[in-house]
Amino acid sequence: MSKRSAVTLSIKPVELKKVANTKSISDYFGINTFNEAAMKKLVSERTFNAFKLWQEGGAVVSAAQADEIAHAMKEWATERGATSYTHWFQPMTGLTAEKHDSFISFTSSSTVIEKFTGTKLIQGEPDASSFPSGGIRSTAEARGYTAWDPSSPAYIAEVAGGKTLTIPTIFISYTGEALDKKLPLLRSDQALNKAALELLRLFGNETSKNVYSTCGPEQEYFLIDESYYRLRPDLVLAGRTLIGAPSPKGQQMEDQYFGSIKDRVLNFMFDVSEEAFKLGIPVTTRHNEVAPHQYEFAPIFEKSNLAADHNQLLMDIMKKVAFRHGLVCLLHEKPFAGINGSGKHLNWSLADDKGSNLLNPGDSPEENLQFLTVLTAVIHAVYTHADLLRAAVASAGNEHRLGANEAPPAIVSIFLGEQLTRIVGQIEAGKLTKGKKQAIIDLGVSQLPKFPKDTTDRNRTSTFAFTGAKFEFRAVGSAQNISTGIAVINTIVADSMLLLVDKIKAEVKKSGFEGAVLKVLSAAIKDSKNILWEGNNYSEEWVKEAAKRGLPNVASTAEALKALVTPKAIALFEKHSVFSKVELKARYHIWLETYERLIDIEAKALRDIVNTQVLPQAYEFQSELSAGVVEMKELAEEAGVTFVDGAVEDRVEALEKVAEEIFYIRKNIKQLDAALVKIQAEGLEKKTALLFSEVKPQMEHIRKHVDAIEAVLPDEFWALPKYWEMLFIK
Ligand code: ADP
Ligand code: MG
Repeated sequence: MSKRSAVTLSIKPVELKKVANTKSISDYFGINTFNEAAMKKLVSERTFNAFKLWQEGGAVVSAAQADEIAHAMKEWATERGATSYTHWFQPMTGLTAEKHDSFISFTSSSTVIEKFTGTKLIQGEPDASSFPSGGIRSTAEARGYTAWDPSSPAYIAEVAGGKTLTIPTIFISYTGEALDKKLPLLRSDQALNKAALELLRLFGNETSKNVYSTCGPEQEYFLIDESYYRLRPDLVLAGRTLIGAPSPKGQQMEDQYFGSIKDRVLNFMFDVSEEAFKLGIPVTTRHNEVAPHQYEFAPIFEKSNLAADHNQLLMDIMKKVAFRHGLVCLLHEKPFAGINGSGKHLNWSLADDKGSNLLNPGDSPEENLQFLTVLTAVIHAVYTHADLLRAAVASAGNEHRLGANEAPPAIVSIFLGEQLTRIVGQIEAGKLTKGKKQAIIDLGVSQLPKFPKDTTDRNRTSTFAFTGAKFEFRAVGSAQNISTGIAVINTIVADSMLLLVDKIKAEVKKSGFEGAVLKVLSAAIKDSKNILWEGNNYSEEWVKEAAKRGLPNVASTAEALKALVTPKAIALFEKHSVFSKVELKARYHIWLETYERLIDIEAKALRDIVNTQVLPQAYEFQSELSAGVVEMKELAEEAGVTFVDGAVEDRVEALEKVAEEIFYIRKNIKQLDAALVKIQAEGLEKKTALLFSEVKPQMEHIRKHVDAIEAVLPDEFWALPKYWEMLFIK
């Protein structure tokens, strides 16, 4: 019996775990976080207030206050069993990074005590010279600093064997450049705040003090049994299957979506939720997705920077908890060919400090006008910077989704739904230019408000869809850090808001306030309406139409990333102090390099698997077939056995077919090797372009032949877990 069959037989259904914990969620929600309530209890009122002011954008707490907070944090953490602390950050590659230090210090009498100071809390210097900086740091000045981000609460990370006080930080170079994904997000929220406040003031709101973006990322993922995972080097090394014949049953029955969840998976989901709740991550919904063994977690939305931290943490928790259940959580965007991939729908909106949502249409016409201005700013922003949105989600994994006939295409477009489309059409036609309240009501704008979710129709194929009182950016990949996507959305929307506000101000004298608003919005809609598309984004029709409209459609990651370093992008990000030119170039370089390394790993993994786990088995089968042919001929000639007409030829045909597949696999592997060698001489840009245009198609080609062999090889010869097993044995 093959190893994989042994695994298949050993997987037994598990029982639903008896929930011993009858505590209600509110009893332990956030219990492992040093949140406001915890801090308030342990520091003086003055220090607490100073901290709050700092959090809201005021001055940094004093050194003495930082010491007080650090001491409180340490007391709180050690009481809960933590022995060390770490500055946790989000480098430009990979998931997250941390460097652990213990709390101990020596006293003057050389005895060990537990101590944690404000200096250590606020700033760290991980020996992090191996993190990519994209040329920002030369090795000579390889220092990188982590700095406490007070907007995200510290928490206790529980791992077997110990607990660690974990402090969310940003990661910067000696010269202050962002070396992480978090700082640009924080900066973009500031830009958004500034622009949105100007917009609110223009509409007579003098009281809101703060506007920030909100975000709720819906996290899709696959689970597979850990024993299968271990037998698939491609999953271990590349996160996705590089070969694998399709299962006769895939997702065509659509019997999985929202279906009842298997007990083993439910146990996993309960555990993930519990871990998430302890860290204050508001995970709410969990359900089956479209593809077999694919699922989703969705949180309640939060301020973007917190949502981004929480999403990183959630992915980490999911991976760790899966192992406890003998499962592996696959976050890759496309683990299985021919089966839906995984994305991360990024729900995005803006709210002010009073909690009102700026993308909520509101009840009165004045508010509607404000809403329509925000809406127009988003439309204008997405149209003007579609290339940046595409760049923000560009990665080797996501390349399998975007532009590959699957949700959503590489073309960025906006879906508004019937109601909003009608209203935007009216604005464009300038019918509101009369500017009187009455005119607005006449045109039905006042009927806008409710937008109960059910009346905004659904378009699952859209890249950027209005869904109720928020937009949903659906092109984000399941494994990606959402920070970059949020930073881009925040920045481009801030820019368009300022543009509209300035134009309205310039027009007021001539046209009156409402007249000016409508005139400016009308012009902006006329400019950017090419981005609006209500139809099916997967259709050939849209690809053609988008080309006619001149919308970018970039399938290649390397090509898409170029948008980060255009003069347009550099001017935009520098204007809003989100990225400097140096920081943009660094990111461009690092992300190209990441792409290059990943495809190189995939190509080599494919070659090795084919050479060691496909061809040897195929040779063996070929020998068996040859022996069979020889035997049949001998039997016919020497023992007078008569086979039915064509039987011998048929066996010869089977043999020839296997020999042919072997021949093509080997030929293509040799070409793959040659291509990998050839591109070594090229610079990074050319190399990544060639990986996309030559190496990846070559890998696909090999896969086609390997999958054909898998489909005819005797079951016991095939050691790699098959699609039907990985996807349906739970
Ligand atoms: P839908 O049915 O449109 O997918 P849900 O209510 O299920 O909407 O929400 C999907 C995600 O959108 C959730 O994570 C939710 O918290 C988030 N969300 C809802 N409102 C907002 C908002 N104002 N800003 C950001 N995210 C939001
Ligand atoms: Mg959704």
